[in-house]
Amino acid sequence: MGGKEGYTKEEYFTASDDIADSIKAEYSSVSPEEQEFVNVIAQGIKDYVVQTYGEHISKDMKEMLETANKRIVMVDNEGFKNLSEDWKPESALPAPEGAAYFSKIGNLVIMRDMIEHSKVIWEQGKEMFESLPEDQKRMVLPYIRFSLVTQALIHELVHSCQEDTGEHRNKNVYRRMALDECGASCLTDKIMKERYPKGNFLESKDSKIRIDTFNYLLGKYGDEVYDVFFNNVPEVAVDKARHEELQKNIYSEFGTKKLVQVGILDDDKAGVYDHMSESW
Ligand SMILES: [Zn+2]
Repeated sequence: MGGKEGYTKEEYFTASDDIADSIKAEYSSVSPEEQEFVNVIAQGIKDYVVQTYGEHISKDMKEMLETANKRIVMVDNEGFKNLSEDWKPESALPAPEGAAYFSKIGNLVIMRDMIEHSKVIWEQGKEMFESLPEDQKRMVLPYIRFSLVTQALIHELVHSCQEDTGEHRNKNVYRRMALDECGASCLTDKIMKERYPKGNFLESKDSKIRIDTFNYLLGKYGDEVYDVFFNNVPEVAVDKARHEELQKNIYSEFGTKKLVQVGILDDDKAGVYDHMSESW
């Protein structure tokens, strides 16, 4: 979910409607009706993101977001693996494990259809769900699925508004990844609470600490944290310098221990990380 793809900025592009349609034709696991339903949810999310965070998002990213709902591909677990491998054959990274990811190659949101995931959650709450009246019980599984889809969509659409930082200096790559994930989790949490309050029951342990971390940054540094998160770099020199200073301060909040806590660094890799060269 987010992170490095092994591609460079020059290789990024936005898939045309034709390309997006042919990918869906080959890999999608959902019916046209379900796809349309998801597209409509994405429209709502998109409008909300622009309305709420638009001043912190670059013009280019906002333009791209305008048509983002045309580039959402829903796949089952096998399709997820196949599409990831076929679509990014030169990437050194294996297919991600998560529920969904945003690919700058094509500007695509590739997400699982959540059928298997919702069954797992049903199993976990089975005792409670089974005690519900029959008509409500029937609604539970579709509702869990809808909530999972919405949550993953928000997370990836938020990522899709982040300008690439081109960050390649050792430790900063990890710090940026941590900021990306903390920010996307936090904004997803805020948007779910505000727009879909009844669907926000799926918080993972990882995301709790990520949300708290980003809220801490907002409390300490103010709303400009959003500009660093979206990498919305001002053009005026004095503002740009301020932005860079703030980015440096924010990065410095992500020490080794914090990177482990927010799930960006494995415990056993922490030692390797400590020995990487510093970048400023
Ligand atoms: Zn993410």
